Amino acid sequence: MGGDVLLPPGSTLAKICLTTVAQALAICASDKLEIDRSNIGAEYRAAQTDKGRSGAEVDVYLYDTTPGGAGFVKAAVTDPEAILRQAIDLLEGCDCESSCYKCLRSYGNRFLHQDLDRELGAALLKHVLGEQERPRLDKKTEAQLLKTIAVDLRDMDHEVVQNDGCLIITSMGDRQIVLSHSLMPRLPSTPEAEAAYSAGRNNAAPIDHLRVKRALPSAIDMCVTTVGSRPSADAPLPAGLGRSDTGIKMHSFDTLSEGCGKGIASAGITIPDHQPSSIFLLEIEGPQLEKAKFKVDGKDVPLASGAVIVFERLNEAASQGLHDGRLRLVHSSENAFKATKTRVTLAMCKWAEFDGRISVRLQYQSTSSKATPQKVAPESLTIIGRPIGVVRRGVFHPVKLP
Ligand SMILES: [Zn+2]
Repeated sequence: MGGDVLLPPGSTLAKICLTTVAQALAICASDKLEIDRSNIGAEYRAAQTDKGRSGAEVDVYLYDTTPGGAGFVKAAVTDPEAILRQAIDLLEGCDCESSCYKCLRSYGNRFLHQDLDRELGAALLKHVLGEQERPRLDKKTEAQLLKTIAVDLRDMDHEVVQNDGCLIITSMGDRQIVLSHSLMPRLPSTPEAEAAYSAGRNNAAPIDHLRVKRALPSAIDMCVTTVGSRPSADAPLPAGLGRSDTGIKMHSFDTLSEGCGKGIASAGITIPDHQPSSIFLLEIEGPQLEKAKFKVDGKDVPLASGAVIVFERLNEAASQGLHDGRLRLVHSSENAFKATKTRVTLAMCKWAEFDGRISVRLQYQSTSSKATPQKVAPESLTIIGRPIGVVRRGVFHPVKLP
């Protein structure tokens, strides 16, 4: 994939895009031979290369479902580029919102229906074929999604005005909300959004459209939270803080993975009894802890994808006392963790001794098969953070996380 388009391994975005593309290709291949769709299966995996590990390269492949292979795939795919173009036609040729029985759905792929999204699949294929370097939203979709956000904000007693390509929350100092296409999450999604964004003085970070479609509460959180807003250019920041085009840099597992999270710090949030330079933020991106809960205002809130956790910076070697089964942000000097595919992960750490060999057991609270418990050597592990709270609706909540 070229340009800035990345499919973070294990992300919902990657799952939806690749499941959709794989299913569309299988359908086109079997339709071409006029055989039943159950004869050709499709899968995907990260390419076994450095680019694959970073999310820039992926393999999507078709296979004959009959044992031994009936030769259908070989017969159907004589021209790979042609079948990619047919898949685009299939994906763009329907008028449903995400997928339906006219385009992608069948009884055979019923377990995948929730992961099928025509628009994302088509955008990815057009990008791969060089037809659309920069995926964008169409104006109608953008307006609908902005309206969805506006309804929720008004339910929270905010005053909101919807303009071309943006929302203005007048009750929050004219804070401006624009959307981005999920395949290019940092850039405003349409020329109108771009114009509004470059003129706006109080922008929230662009909100990616899949978040609005699939995780609306977290999108609403981003609208009203101070995190991600563009600070005025001369606002003092603690040393080591990266400033991106869109505002204060929020960390992800990827950005912390290099260099053991050195120089991490964040601003825009004041926490009693803590040095600002010892505090940083992490947005959870993948399935790891969606079963873990914390309490805000008496309500249990899951640590699902999109949750923003506030950390106190630590730099401790792994030793027995620290591995008390509590949640820690850890860095490995050896390998990427299975759960994040990066050298940083968040997990419950437990000291384990078996047959005289010592290891640290990392436990996730997840339903995902990617987040199965993992044992690692203590000498490769550094604890880089301790969670002290979460950010919700722009407010810091101190919490005791599990
Ligand atoms: Zn359809």
